[in-house]
Amino acid sequence: MFVPLAPVAVQRALLGAASRMIPARAQPAVAVDAAEGLAGEVVSVREVVPQRVVLYFHGGGGVLGSPRQVRVMACHLARAMAARVVVPRYRLAPKHPAPAALVDAVNAYQRLLAEGTAPGRVVVGGDSVGAGLALALVMTLRDRSLPLPAAVLMVCPWADMSPDVAGSRPGGRADAMLSPGVLARWARAYTAGRAVKDPAVSPLHGRFEGLPPLVISSAGDDPLAPEAEQLQERAARAGVDVVHHRNPGCWHDFHFWAGVLPAARRAVGQLAQSLIRLVPDHQSSGDRLRAVGPRVGIVGAGPAGLCMGVKLRQAGLENFTLFEKAGEVGGSWRDNTYPGVACDVASQFYCYSFALSAAWQYRFAPGHEVRQYLLDTAATFRLQGHIRTHSEVVEARWQQGRWRLRLADGGLDDVDVLVAATGVLRVPHTPDFKGQDRFRGPVFHSAAWDHGAALTGARIAVIGNGSSGVQITTALAGRTEHLHLFQRTPQWIFPVPNRKVSPAVRALMRNVPPLRRVSYHFYRLVQEVFGLAATRPGLLRWTLAQACRLHLRLAVADPALRAKLTPDYRPMCKRQVFSAGFYPAVQRPDVTLVTEPISHFDEHGIVTADGVLHRVDAIVLATGFDTHAYLRPMAVHGHAGTRLEDVWADGAFVYRTVAVPGFANFFLLMGPHSPIGNHSFIAIAETQADYITQWIKRLARGEVRTVHPTTAATADFNDQLRRAARDTVWASGCANWYTGPDGVPETWPWSTRRHRRLLRRIEDSDFHLELPAAGEHGL
Ligand code: NAP
Repeated sequence: MFVPLAPVAVQRALLGAASRMIPARAQPAVAVDAAEGLAGEVVSVREVVPQRVVLYFHGGGGVLGSPRQVRVMACHLARAMAARVVVPRYRLAPKHPAPAALVDAVNAYQRLLAEGTAPGRVVVGGDSVGAGLALALVMTLRDRSLPLPAAVLMVCPWADMSPDVAGSRPGGRADAMLSPGVLARWARAYTAGRAVKDPAVSPLHGRFEGLPPLVISSAGDDPLAPEAEQLQERAARAGVDVVHHRNPGCWHDFHFWAGVLPAARRAVGQLAQSLIRLVPDHQSSGDRLRAVGPRVGIVGAGPAGLCMGVKLRQAGLENFTLFEKAGEVGGSWRDNTYPGVACDVASQFYCYSFALSAAWQYRFAPGHEVRQYLLDTAATFRLQGHIRTHSEVVEARWQQGRWRLRLADGGLDDVDVLVAATGVLRVPHTPDFKGQDRFRGPVFHSAAWDHGAALTGARIAVIGNGSSGVQITTALAGRTEHLHLFQRTPQWIFPVPNRKVSPAVRALMRNVPPLRRVSYHFYRLVQEVFGLAATRPGLLRWTLAQACRLHLRLAVADPALRAKLTPDYRPMCKRQVFSAGFYPAVQRPDVTLVTEPISHFDEHGIVTADGVLHRVDAIVLATGFDTHAYLRPMAVHGHAGTRLEDVWADGAFVYRTVAVPGFANFFLLMGPHSPIGNHSFIAIAETQADYITQWIKRLARGEVRTVHPTTAATADFNDQLRRAARDTVWASGCANWYTGPDGVPETWPWSTRRHRRLLRRIEDSDFHLELPAAGEHGL
C-alpha cells in the first residue's frame, strides 16, 4: 500500500484517505471526543463510567498516521474492556525525529495521571511503531522511577529500527500494508542518525526487567511477525509476564478492520479479555455486566450451541464465545458421516424456527444436508466471529463470581455465564470385545467412519441395530460382498419411506415462505403425537405399536427370520427406529442376520457363542453412545469446588432440564431429562436457549448478579418427574439408553408442549438470586 519513494506528504494523504475508508459497520456504540490538551481523540463507552484507560499510540512508522486511523478498533476495544481509549497525537518525523515522539508519549501519560487516573488502571499500548513507542515509554518510566501502568498492549509491534531488520525482514516478506523498502525508509527518517539500537527508538534492544505484563497480538503474514516472537522471548527471559495472541493468515494491523472482519473483532476481543484480567475490575460486577453484557461461554458449537449463539445475538448480547473442540461446527452432524446417515425427524421440522429452509432435498435430510444447513446458519447469523475452534474446555471452575475455564491446550479464560451445549450423542460407546486387537482388518465406530476402508465388494460386519446400525445396513446391503448384521436385541421398526422433495414442492416452499412455517408446525404435530404415545398409555400407543407389528408381519415372509426380528418388549421402549428399507435389506441373500451372542474376535472375523467364525474384512461398531456422559470429560466445579459428576453420581438432578442447584450462572442445553425421545433436538434446544437468554438479559440489565435453582424446587420437579416416568413406555421393561443409573428414564416424561410451557417464564421463587448491592444499579 505504501510507496517508498513517494513524498511523505503524499503518503500521509494516502493513509488519511485510507483511514476514512475503513468500514465501521459493526462499530459499537461509543462516544468519540477531542482529547483535551493532547490534541488527539478519546473513545469511550456511553452510559458507563469507564474504569480503565488505554493510552494508545497509533502506528505509521513514526512518520505518518493520526488518531483517526485507529478509531474503529479503539471503539471495539473501548466497548470490550469498558474502557476509555485515549489516542494522543504525537510529533512525527522527518520534521520531528526521535526522541520527539517519546517525549510526547511521556507527557501524555503524565497528563493522564495528573487528571487523577491511577496508574494501576492504565494500559499503555499501540500498533506497529506505536507499540514500540509504548514499550519505550514504560522503559523510560521504569528508568526514571515513575509509576508504571498495569500493562502494555502491543498490536503488530515494530520495536527494532536496525537496518538489518527494518530493511530486510526474514524471507523478504511483504504484506498488504508494508514492504521492507517502506520500513527501511521510515526507520531512517525516525531515527535520524541516532544509534539504531538505542532503546528509545528500538526498545527490543532495551532492558525488560521490571516491566509490567505485555499483551501482544501479532499477525502471521506480517513482515514484523518475527519481532513479536523476539519480544515475547526477551520479555519472558527477563521474568516479565507475556500473553501472545497469534493470528495466522492475517496481515499487519488487520485489527483495524474490527468493524467488518470477524477475525479482527475476535483478535480485539482476545486482547480485551487478556487486558481486563490484568486491570482487575474495581467496579461492581453489576457495572461491568451492564457495560459489556455478561461474558457468556458456550461449550460446543453443535446444533444447540449455535442456537444459543443466535438467540444471544438476537437479544443484542454480543459478548459470548462458542468453544468448539473440533475444527468445524455441527456436532453429531459433523462427526457422523456413515453411509446412509440421515435424520429421522422430517427436515421441515428438524431446523431452527428462525431459519426455515426451502432447500431440503429429502423429506428426511441426509447427514450432509443437515451439516450444510448448520454451517449456513452459522454464516447467516454471523456467528463465526464468536466461534473458537480447536478449543476444548476440559474444566470449568466457579471462582470469585465467574467461571474460570481451562482449555485442553493449557489456555485459560473467564466467563460470567457458562452454557453447556456438549450434546447427548457425543461420546461413542465402544465395547471391549475379547480378541479385538487380533482382528487384521479395520474396526471403527459409526461416529468415526473410516472412509479409507474398502467396503464395496468386501465382507463387512455391523454390530448393533439401533438407528445407526439400521441405516448403515440398509445403505450397504447390496454394495458389499456380504454383510453380517450382529443383533443383540431386535428392534421395532416403524415404516417411513424417505422420498425426494419434488422440484415443484421446493419451488413452492421457496416462493411462498408461509408454507415453510405451516410445514414446520405440521411436522411438529406429527412428532408430538409420537411423543404422546411414548409418555401416555392409551389408544395412541397401542395403534403405533400395532403399526410396527403389522410392518414386520407384512415385510418379512420367513417365519424363522421374523421370529428373530421380533422384540419381546413394547414398541418405542427403545428409541423408535424408522425405516422402510431395513426389512428388505436383511432379507437379501448377501445379508446375514446373526443373533448368536458375540464370543470374541479373531484375526479373520467374529466368533459367536456357538463357535461359528464369521469371516469379515472390516467391522463397524454401531454400538451407540455413552448417553450419560453429558459434559464429561469436562469437569465442572461449582460452589466450594463441588463436582457436578459427584452430584449426579446416583442420577441426574436438574431443574427443568436447564440448571443445577449449587452451580451459579450455569445452564444446560440438551441436559438430563430433555424431551429427546423421538423429537427434534433442535426444537428442544431452541426452547431451552430462549429460557436461558431471559436469564442472561436479566444479568445484563444488572437485575441479578448470580442465579441458581433452589434444591427444594429442583427436588420437587424431580419427584414429579419420577412419578410420571413410571407411565412412560421407556420404563415398560427393556434396556434402553434413556435409563439413568437410578433406573429412571432420563428423558422428559410429559409432552414437549409442557416443556415449552415450563420454560416460557422464569419463576423467581425457584431460584437463589444474588442481587446487586443497594445503590449499585438503582433498583
Ligand atoms: P443405539 O440406539 O444405542 O444402538 C446401539 C446398538 O448397539 C444396539 O443395537 C445395541 O444392542 C448394540 N450394542 C451395544 N453394545 C453392544 C455389545 N457389546 N454387543 C452387541 N451389541 C451391542 O445407538 P445408535 O444406533 O448409534 O443410535 C443412537 C441414537 O442416535 C439413536 O437412538 C438416535 O437417537 C440417534 N440417531 C438418530 C438418527 C436420526 O436419524 N436422527 C440417526 C442415527 C442415530 P442392545 O439393543 O442389545 O443394547
